[in-house]
Amino acid sequence: MNTLRNSNAERDARTLVHPYSNLSYDTESRLLTIVKGDGCYVEDDQGNRYLEGMAGLWSTSLGFSEERLADAANAQIRKLPYYHLFNHRSTEPSIDLAEKLLSIAPEGLEKVLFANSGSEANDQAVKLVWYYNNQKGRPEKKKIISRWRGYHGVTVASGSLTGLPGNHADFDLPIRNIIHADCPSHYHHANPGETEEAFAERLAESLEAQIIAEGPETVAALIAEPVSGSGGVIVPPKGYYERVQKILKKYDILLIADEVITGFGRTGKMFGCETFGMKPDIMTVAKALSSSYLPISATLISGEIYNAMVEESRKHGVFAHGVTYAGHPVCAAVALETLKIYEERDIVGHVAEVAPHFQARLAALADRPNVGHARGIGLIGAIELVADKTSRAPFAPARGVGPAFQLHLQRNGVIVRALRDAVAFCPPLIITKDQIDVLFDAVEDGLDFVA
Ligand code: PLP
Repeated sequence: MNTLRNSNAERDARTLVHPYSNLSYDTESRLLTIVKGDGCYVEDDQGNRYLEGMAGLWSTSLGFSEERLADAANAQIRKLPYYHLFNHRSTEPSIDLAEKLLSIAPEGLEKVLFANSGSEANDQAVKLVWYYNNQKGRPEKKKIISRWRGYHGVTVASGSLTGLPGNHADFDLPIRNIIHADCPSHYHHANPGETEEAFAERLAESLEAQIIAEGPETVAALIAEPVSGSGGVIVPPKGYYERVQKILKKYDILLIADEVITGFGRTGKMFGCETFGMKPDIMTVAKALSSSYLPISATLISGEIYNAMVEESRKHGVFAHGVTYAGHPVCAAVALETLKIYEERDIVGHVAEVAPHFQARLAALADRPNVGHARGIGLIGAIELVADKTSRAPFAPARGVGPAFQLHLQRNGVIVRALRDAVAFCPPLIITKDQIDVLFDAVEDGLDFVA
């Protein structure tokens, strides 16, 4: 590839390791360098504009030019650019943010432990479950169940929770005490003619059998995204969480809700837990917590778990966990402003208003010959690309056609995300109905292209 010396592409190829990129490919010819953004659009270093149909990484909920977030960062960085929460120190933005978060969180969540990323928030959730059960005098109750196709991050623990084999291969994951349960995708795993309810019942029975086989006294928690994102946007079958939660209760197993994608309006309610009637003991949030303008995440915990942590402190002294940037005041100030904007502009109401149009355009794609399935809820969705609708055969088992589809749309000014043969859509929550049409017109054109 002949790129100009000292161009962005050449310097990037020479220096950067790209996460989630095929490192054996010629990166220079594929590079997309984004230099600015406004509203739901971003622009590259060649002056091309793109509708961001993925909100970055399922995350930039308020779009790419929210002045109030820039102002909040600016004001806080000038007032107090950094302080920490260790050793009984605090900052006003982290207190304000914790208070605000708890005021909107599902019932029963009483304390907030901040971190920087979704992976870290889940990682510390695992540690807290283990800590809790040690304090409760049941050191054998340690296994965490996650689901195949669930995505929970990439640290050693959260990468183990992630139920995508590619995240385990040659990284020596998963670690001990993390096991995986059935993926709840009706499209992929239901028997022919099986209703959603019957499928949910079968999944629940299988989960119970797995818990019994492992020994209920060894199973500590189940972690689940209300809607799995990176695993291909998997909306659970009707009645799934109701049944699953009954089983968890029966065997005294905690529920961790990973709301890193679904939190703050994505599914049409403030949290996916509300949409699906989940009552978590722990909930993790990141991404839209700050509209992704600055990195911040949080692990929200029940009073019972917090009380156990206090007891551990009576035994060991300090709670020996925490990261330098937990509750970083500038990130917290931006997150607080984000939550205020959600409230003032009724972002949940906006999602409720535009989501039916988004879902109608998405559902209409199911009639296309190369779409095996179209699924979604709120402002998140995906289509499954197939070479044959009846057999559901993918285009090319080894590689899939998703990346070519994604590139075609990119050339036409729309960014979507290929997850092998599924293509995901997750635009900023501020998207308008007209912009939803731009997105799905481009998707329809892309389907003609791969036909
Ligand atoms: N949990 C979910 C549901 C996610 O989608 C992600 C990232 O996409 C994570 C956790 C990990 O978050 P991060 O990439 O900030 O570590």
